Formats: sequence, C-alpha cells, structure tokens
Amino acid sequence: MSTQTVNAPQAHDSMFEAVLARLDVAAKLMNLSEEVTKVLRNPKKEVKVSLPVVMDNGKIEVFEGYRTVHSTHLGPSKGGIRYALDVNADEVKALAAWMSFKCAVANLPYGGAKGGIKCDPRAMSVGELERLSRAYAKAMKDVFGVNRDIPAPDMGTSGREMAWILDEFNKVTGDDSPGVITGKPIAIGGSLGRDAATGRGVMVNTLAALKKMNLKPTDVCAVVQGFGNVGSHAARLLSEKGIKIVGIGDHTASFYNEKGINIKDALDFSAKNKGTLKGFTGATEIAHDQLLLCKCDVLVPAALQNVITEEYASKIQAKLIVEGANGPTMPEADHIINEKKIICVPDILANSGGVTVSYFEWVQNKAGYYWSEEEVNTKHDIKMELAFENVWNNATTFKTSMRIGAYISALQRIEQGVKLKGSY
Ligand code: NAD
Repeated sequence: MSTQTVNAPQAHDSMFEAVLARLDVAAKLMNLSEEVTKVLRNPKKEVKVSLPVVMDNGKIEVFEGYRTVHSTHLGPSKGGIRYALDVNADEVKALAAWMSFKCAVANLPYGGAKGGIKCDPRAMSVGELERLSRAYAKAMKDVFGVNRDIPAPDMGTSGREMAWILDEFNKVTGDDSPGVITGKPIAIGGSLGRDAATGRGVMVNTLAALKKMNLKPTDVCAVVQGFGNVGSHAARLLSEKGIKIVGIGDHTASFYNEKGINIKDALDFSAKNKGTLKGFTGATEIAHDQLLLCKCDVLVPAALQNVITEEYASKIQAKLIVEGANGPTMPEADHIINEKKIICVPDILANSGGVTVSYFEWVQNKAGYYWSEEEVNTKHDIKMELAFENVWNNATTFKTSMRIGAYISALQRIEQGVKLKGSY
C-alpha cells in the first residue's frame, strides 16, 4: 500500500461536491466508464417533505424531512435516518452516495440512500419525537419498502425511533414487514449484535490495519472522538483487544489520560448522565479542539463530519486514522494525511459494520429465523476482513490511498452490476 498523493481534490463548500471530487479521482484511476461515472454523479431520487407536528405546548411546529435514494444498481437502497439541526438536502445527498459506496465496499446486495429531519432531538420530549417520527414514516410511505428502500438509525436516532417508524409504516401500508427498517429493538425483529456493529467494524478494521503496520494492539494507544453509538462501542471493543484508550470526548467534554482511561467506568458514567461525559473524573478534561491532536497511535473520529481540516491534519500525531463517523476528513486534508504517511481507513470501509449487520437483520427478518449473537459477530468479522483486504489490495495495485482504494472497490462492483443488468 502506498500513501502517495493522488490528484488531491480541491476544497468544496458542498459535501456532495466533496463526494464527487473523490469519486472523480477514483474513476479516473480505474478508468471507470464515462456513463457509469455520469449516472453515479446524480442521485436517483430526492424527496423533501414538510412535517407539521403538534408540540407539547399545543403549538404546531413544521419540520423539514429528507430522503435521497442515490443508487439501486446492486439492490434496494439502504441508509440511515439522521435527526440533527444541520440536516440539509446537500448533506443527505452526500450521505446517500456514501451509502451506495459503503454497501458496495462491504459487498452487500444494496444501493444507497439516506434520510434526515432537521430538528434538535435533545431539545424535544419523547412524545414530540414520536409524533415527528410517525409523521416522517407516513410521508415516506411510497419511498420505503422492504425490497425498495430500507432505512436504519444514524446520528440522533436509535432503535426507539425505528420502532415508531416501523409501526406507522405498517399501519399506513397495511403490511407487516419488519425488514422494511433495520436497527430495530430485538423484541420486534432486531438483530443481536446490531447495536455494537458499527463500533465492532471499527475495531476489526483497526486490528487489520495494525497488522499491516506490524503493530501489536497491546503496544498502541488510541483516541476516540464521540461517545454515542459508534464511539462508545468502538472504545469498549478496542480496549477489550488490549489497545490503551488515552482520549475520549463527546459534545459536552473531552478527556485525556496518558495512563489509559477505564472505558467501563466511562460507559457507566455516561449511562448515569443522559449519555454524556461532562463531569467524568477518570481523566483530565481538555479543550475539545485538542482531542484530535493528542499524542496517540490510532485516532478514531466517531462523532461529526468535517472535523479533520487541513490545519488539523497537519498537526495530528496518530499513525492510523479509522473513520467511525461519516465524512470526518475534509477532502482538502487528504493529501496532508497521505504526505504524512498516515494510514487512513476511510468511512465507507471503517464504519460499514453497521450496515453489514443491518443486512443480516433484513435477511433474518425475511427468513423469520434468528441467529445467535456469536453467529452474527462471526459472519460480520469475516465480511469486514474480506472488505479490508479487498480495499488494501486495490490501494496497493493502484498505488493510491486506502480512501481511493475503497472507492475503486465500490465502483468496480457497481460497474459490474450496471453492465450485467444492462441498465443504468
Ligand atoms: P450518536 O448520536 O449515537 O452519537 C454521536 C456522538 O457524537 C455523541 O457522543 C455526541 O455527544 C458526539 N458529538 C456531537 N457533537 C460533538 C462535538 N461537537 N464534539 C465532539 N463530540 C460530539 O451517533 P452515532 O450513531 O454514534 O454516529 C456518529 C457518526 O457515525 C455519524 O457520522 C454517523 O453518520 C456515523 N455512523 C453511524 C452508524 C450507526 O450505526 N449508528 C453507522 C455508520 C456511520
């Protein structure tokens, strides 16, 4: 694998443009057909809805809801639903495209989609969130479908929202198909292992990369940004593999302890504090903007997009970045990471464990037969290791970064699907 710089994409205001910039670099390197490139530069379907919701004070608030289907060349579209204040059409489009590439990298029979609602879930009551989720499900009744478009949780959503959306979708359509949504609670057709799956994928990718770098897990330390679904499970699983976690952080506080943070204590603390870390005493609190720059071998950004800017990239001390979040590295930072010979396991590979187990959930729902957690984890780890190897090999063959190698892996499969079906 080479970390040589490949025509670094330029800075972009639009997140979707940033996706296209990397797509173009990979397409050129692998000689992707012009037709397939053109098709993938344009999402298949974009839906925007207005969602009027009665708030607890009796007043009506109207929320913006989005769903973008980027591609369906390899199967029905798949992708999460995000509740956040900065949700917008461009972001949803970018995340939908990443889902197409992520599913293809993981070799899943899916295209890509993404949805979101512009709202602040932390400022809403449970009742308001339920009414909002139900309004969204109703508005998307012609978009979602067990063999059409299958949502899942993302930032700001969890099994709870998936259960409401499933219930409302089934009421509106008259269907009873649990596979129309994944990331559900276990009691209503969720899969064992789904909750921890994205963090588990981060762990498997980290171990695979360390092996290529001839580093032992017990000899390295890591910093994890974000302590939600992805970050907390990643930190726990990495520490269980012997990696010393020296830094953690969420939107309330960031912490560093060079001797290592007891992740079980941090998890217990967060569970008792509405899922936040502010006030944790097992490490020294540091400024948020210092967390990514701390001395460590492995850096796992698992919170937000665009946190690794050019400036940050030049100061990062880690040798390995494993992208738990979607889009944490800005395209213009890629070349600095490559020049510094930092190995970066890109989001479309590193966090594909979640959609992989979502796929297993869908398969189990269709079969009406459920697997043990051990079976799910074993199948997950095998798929993830194969995906890592495929990307590593492409990066080596095409003398490029793992990021572009991952795009090439995805594009090879999508191009094959398009050609075999003979339709765009
Ligand atoms: P989550 O809502 O469970 O957790 C988000 C975490 O980020 C929280 O700990 C929050 O405090 C933290 N955070 C928010 N703002 C922050 C800030 N300014 N500084 C530091 N921390 C901040 O979300 P999640 O599901 O863990 O998703 C995190 C990322 O992983 C997102 O980019 C998401 O798209 C991606 N992702 C999630 C999944 C999944 O299965 N949940 C799968 C693939 C990718």
